[in-house]
Amino acid sequence: MADHHHRNVQGGGARAAVFGVSDGLVSNVSLILGMAGAHASAGNVRLAGLAGLVGGACSMAAGEYVSMRAQSELMQHELDVEREAIHHDPEVERRELATIYEHRGLEAELARELSAKMMSDPDLALETHAREELGFDPEETGQPLQAAGSSFLTFALGALVPLLPWLVASGLGATLWSVGLGAVGAVSVGAVLSHFTGRRWLWSAGRQLLIASGAAAVTFGIGHLVGVG
Ligand SMILES: [Zn+2]
Repeated sequence: MADHHHRNVQGGGARAAVFGVSDGLVSNVSLILGMAGAHASAGNVRLAGLAGLVGGACSMAAGEYVSMRAQSELMQHELDVEREAIHHDPEVERRELATIYEHRGLEAELARELSAKMMSDPDLALETHAREELGFDPEETGQPLQAAGSSFLTFALGALVPLLPWLVASGLGATLWSVGLGAVGAVSVGAVLSHFTGRRWLWSAGRQLLIASGAAAVTFGIGHLVGVG
């Protein structure tokens, strides 16, 4: 059907950004409402909110950097192994590629021809083996620093939302504003997420709101029980 439309199922960067905002929002609205539930002073809530923002953003960025770095190092290592194999045993690697093509349904003769063609140039051979055998594009082994920076910024953005009222107000007013902004933030994150998942936005927004308000209610309750004393 020529007019059908596919969503970008990869969409790694954008989707990671939405999750980053969601993480920042949920963890900081919970932290702030926990402090507010304990009737902490506005200064302490502000401090806790800022510490939650900076600490959380740093930890998200560090985690993203380490995991992307490890993944790209692993991919590089696999590429090096493959490059060596193609250099030392080109015929073995060609047969391997032909077998992959035959398993994809190509006739033996066509598979042999195509694999010979792909092996004719070392760079093309490596790229083909990476895609067909290792399952990744050798050009896309990830950018750890970029991913870490994006995680830091998106988490900080999400965490800033419930903190904003405490920069200008205090007490019950600031608490209610944090709840309101947190709810609007959660619904917005859910609506954006539905763009990736294809689910109805209302469903996705409702789920996000439920998760955020559940986490906030639990920490508010604990803060209220424990208090600042
Ligand atoms: Zn191979």
